[in-house]
Amino acid sequence: MTDVPLSGNEDWRKVLKELPLPLSVQKDQLLIECLDSITNGGYVDIEKGVELFESTNISGISALADLIKQSRFGEHVYFNDNLHVNTTNICVLACRFCAFRKGPRHNDAYALSIEEYLHRIEPFSEIIDEVHSVGGLHPTWTVNYYEDLYRAAKETYPNIHIKSLTAVEVKHISSRSGISVKETLSRLKSAGLDSLPGGGAEILVDSVRDRICRGKESSDEYLKIHEIAHGLDIKTNCTMLFGTVETLRERAIHLSKLRNQQNRSKGFQCFVPYPFLPDKTRLPEAQLASMNEIIRVIAISRIMLDNIPHIKAYRMNIGSHVASIALNSGADDIDGTVNHEEIMHEAGSSARLDSDSNELARLIEDIDLVPVKRNTTYTDFTRYKRKPDKNGINLPVAQSV
Ligand code: SF4
Repeated sequence: MTDVPLSGNEDWRKVLKELPLPLSVQKDQLLIECLDSITNGGYVDIEKGVELFESTNISGISALADLIKQSRFGEHVYFNDNLHVNTTNICVLACRFCAFRKGPRHNDAYALSIEEYLHRIEPFSEIIDEVHSVGGLHPTWTVNYYEDLYRAAKETYPNIHIKSLTAVEVKHISSRSGISVKETLSRLKSAGLDSLPGGGAEILVDSVRDRICRGKESSDEYLKIHEIAHGLDIKTNCTMLFGTVETLRERAIHLSKLRNQQNRSKGFQCFVPYPFLPDKTRLPEAQLASMNEIIRVIAISRIMLDNIPHIKAYRMNIGSHVASIALNSGADDIDGTVNHEEIMHEAGSSARLDSDSNELARLIEDIDLVPVKRNTTYTDFTRYKRKPDKNGINLPVAQSV
């Protein structure tokens, strides 16, 4: 499918109807029912979602998810150039899965001043188009700190998009400042905040949240904060942390809640599922998801979230190898060149941080897909032309004796 616009097919359900089905989908009644619902303008509900999570036909689920991805975006895979700058690791909460937070007196605790924040961006300012900033719930910072931060960042780097704050940070800032969430977000938007990254959804079932992140915003609060952002024309992403203590049904409920929210407020751009990384955290009962399970979650996300356009392979968490499989299993987006990242790496991720656009494009082309650079809000796209490798590619060759 080479004639798909860079922004994707509007009429993708019609395209999907025409695509030939691989045997692994054809012979599976559940997948055919899911496909029929989607092509007829419907969606896959919680019960069918649970069946997908319990199915042994992972290759069929991946194949169906890939067909849906192809019908929407053809061979295109999206990425951007971004930098992660975490404002502080000091946090008043202590979520059990979190290896990043520190108490204020911990030796490794830090809280960036505005100058330090700008300093972190400076070496990358010519090559990135987005800074992704989240952090802990600082005990004393109010909305004033973030207003000053975003204003200074916009004044210094006017072309860099600021994607910042999880829903729980927004809630914390609003209560620390004694103002509503709506006022908090509108003041921050006026100061330069462009979009929200979507982190902190974990699993949107309160009994699960109570076990893994007690004290964080409730499921309804997470959705409401995003709804308020959408109402202010602030685009957001949404996420899922899986592989802690949730059941398969709770994963399906999570996806369904996001889908329902999107029907109401329509501002989610991208869904980012990532598995729990257990290093250094306090959740001994959790398990590291297998590669199959990661691929299954990404594929089912694509099948159930028919109204959220983009599904991300979060390379910082799952690594480049699994990410490249995910791109053939429903994901259409891969996180960018990410020049610095702490949260996943504190938790045990060993994904490389120094990929440049060319290297990321090579990962995409190596699986016969087409790299497309995008901006944060998916309104500007450029087909990425990879530069030739300076030293050629070193293939292993047999040595003569
Ligand atoms: S996940 Fe966020 S809110 Fe929870 S402890 Fe870590 S930094 Fe704090």
